Amino acid sequence: MRLRINEYLLYNTPMKNISSKKLYVVSGSSGVGKGTVLKTFMARHPDFMLSVSCTTRKPREGEVDGINYFFISQEEFSRCVEEDKFLEWAEFAGNRYGTKKKFIEECLDKGKNVILEIETKGALQVKEKMPDAVLIFIAPPSLEELETRLRGRHTEDEETIQKRLSEVKKELESAKKYDYKVVNDKIENAIEELEKIIAGD
Ligand code: 5GP
Repeated sequence: MRLRINEYLLYNTPMKNISSKKLYVVSGSSGVGKGTVLKTFMARHPDFMLSVSCTTRKPREGEVDGINYFFISQEEFSRCVEEDKFLEWAEFAGNRYGTKKKFIEECLDKGKNVILEIETKGALQVKEKMPDAVLIFIAPPSLEELETRLRGRHTEDEETIQKRLSEVKKELESAKKYDYKVVNDKIENAIEELEKIIAGD
């Protein structure tokens, strides 16, 4: 199976027989708490690796290059797109984000299950290229609750909050194409739900 994955990544041909146990895509609107859910999940499941994406966004306080993201310039990002280095990429709230094919290939080579924590446009690109990838959407209990959480974390200015809120409705629409939806009313419930989905998949 691994050879087939590498073949896909190298030649970009559609894959039929990728092991569905290997690649999971988790999305959720800004402020939904997916970071916390995934952080706990990763701590409990060392056989999983969380993909580190490239982004043109500036680092937030405390974020580390190579751990949270590979923070790259617009020019470098454009070069990667031209050179077809991304498995998927998308623009989100004024910044570009992408998953390097090579990074995923290396994770799979280490025999790890891989989780991509990406927004919905990129997730649907992955599903199109790798139909057996499992798409999981983490949804807020309500839109009001989401706005409260987004404001409460104090990491974005008002303009950025507005941009992110305007993405939410589009994302909820795209979520209809996902394999699973987890409502994050309580973090512990959401983690358990995620574990059930992945264990039962
Ligand atoms: P943030 O700026 O809050 O870290 O991320 C903004 C959005 O970009 C989130 O929904 C996050 O899941 C998504 N994202 C992070 N990395 C990638 C990526 O490699 N590709 C895509 N398509 N989205 C990403």
